[in-house]
Amino acid sequence: MHFFGYRGKSFYAEGVPFEKIIKECGTPVYVYSLKTLKRHYKAYDAAFSKVEHLICYSIKANSNISVLKAFADEGSGFDIVSGGELYRALKAGADPGRIVFSGVGKREDEIEYALKSRILMFNVESPQELKAVNDIAGRLRKKAGIAIRVNPNVDAKTHPYISTGLKKNKFGIETGQAIKEYINAKNNLKNVVPIGIDCHIGSQITNIEPFIDALRKTKELLATLRKEGLEIKYLDMGGGLGITYDSETPPHPSRYGEAVIEGTKGLGVTLIFEPGRSMVGNAGVLATKVVYTKEGTEKNFIIVDAAMNDLARPSLYGSYHAIKAVKERSKEEITADVVGPICESGDFLAKDRILPAVKAGEYLAVMSAGAYGFSMSSNYNTRPRAAEVMVDGKDFQVIRERETLAHLIKGESLMKGKKRK
Ligand SMILES: *Cc1c(COP(=O)(O)O)cnc(C)c1O
Repeated sequence: MHFFGYRGKSFYAEGVPFEKIIKECGTPVYVYSLKTLKRHYKAYDAAFSKVEHLICYSIKANSNISVLKAFADEGSGFDIVSGGELYRALKAGADPGRIVFSGVGKREDEIEYALKSRILMFNVESPQELKAVNDIAGRLRKKAGIAIRVNPNVDAKTHPYISTGLKKNKFGIETGQAIKEYINAKNNLKNVVPIGIDCHIGSQITNIEPFIDALRKTKELLATLRKEGLEIKYLDMGGGLGITYDSETPPHPSRYGEAVIEGTKGLGVTLIFEPGRSMVGNAGVLATKVVYTKEGTEKNFIIVDAAMNDLARPSLYGSYHAIKAVKERSKEEITADVVGPICESGDFLAKDRILPAVKAGEYLAVMSAGAYGFSMSSNYNTRPRAAEVMVDGKDFQVIRERETLAHLIKGESLMKGKKRK
C-alpha cells in the first residue's frame, strides 16, 4: 500500500491532492504522510516482536516535532546526536528512558542536559568522552548508562560520505581499545555503568551482509566483556537500512529482523535499533514550482523554486530522487536538468532526467525526500526555509510554517557606534 500516488491526473498524499496543499501553503513545501510513518514504525516493531527490543528512531533524519510525536505515540524511543535533538524529543513527548545519545563530539552542557533528563545511555565514541561523562555524572551525583560505539571495520558498501564503520572513519573505537575502555570503566570509573555495546556502520545499506558482519564482531566482543565480568544488557545495532530511491532493492525490516534474531539467539540482550532513513525517507515528498524553463544549446533546464538549501542530497552525494509532475500531463517528454535558483553550479535536484515536458507555473513532486531533506536544509542565499505539512487521511496540517523574511535576520544586529567612512 502506497500513500503517495496519482488519482486520475492528480498526485495525492493519502486522501489529499498536492494541488490543495500547494494552493494553501505555497512552494517549496515538504509533505509527509502520517500513515506511512506509522506503517514504517510498525514494520520494525513487528520484525522484532519475538525478542526484547527497542526502536530508537534517529532524529537527525527528520526532526520535526510532529514526526517525532507520531513515533513517540507508537512507543518509539529516539537516537539523538545533540542537545538540540534532546530538546525536540522531550517537546514531542518522548520517554527519556528510551533515548540513546550518539555522536563524536558531545559537549559538557549536552552531557549534563542528557544526564539531568535521565536518558537510557550514552553511546560513547572516545576515551576522553568516557572520562568526561564519568566526571560530569560524578559532579551531578548521577550514574550514566553507557555503551561504547565500536568500530567493527566492516565495509557497508555505500557512499563514502555515509560509510561510518571503517577504521579510517572518525566514528567509534576499535575493538581492542574498546575492551580496555570497558574494563577501565568497570574498575576505575565510578559514575558510569557499562550496559551496552553500540555499533553503527553507515547509511543507505542495501544488503544484509554488512550488518551480519558487524553483528558477528559485536558478539565476539560481548563474549569477551562477559568473561571480564561486565553485565552487558543492550546490543545497539545502529541504523543504516537503505530505501528505494530508484531501483535499489534493500531488505525489508522483516528480513533484516529474521537475520538479526537468528544471529542473536540465546544472547540474553535487549536489541536496540536506530533507524532513520528507512522510517521517514519514503514518507516525505518535496513539492516545488517550475519558475522557468530554458533551452540551452547543450542542455534543457527546468528551473524550480526548491534548491540545494532545501534538499542538499543531490548536491552533496549526487543522490537520485525520482521526480513526478503534480498534474499528470500528455505524453510529451524532455530530457533536462532540474535546477534551483542558488548561485552554485552544484545546485541541482536532477541531471539529464527524462521528465514530462512541464511548463513554467506547473508543479513537480520530488520523491523520497522525507529523510535528510528538511533536516539538512539551510538559509543559504538568504532563502526562507520551506514549510512542512503532515497529511492524515483527508486532512492536513502545517507542522512548520514557511520562514518569513523577518526569520532570516532574527538574532542579527547592526553594529553600534559611529558611522565609519
Ligand atoms: C545517522 C545515524 C543513524 C541513522 O542512520 P540511517 O541510515 O538514517 O538509518 C543511526 N545511528 C547513528 C549513530 C547515526 O549517526
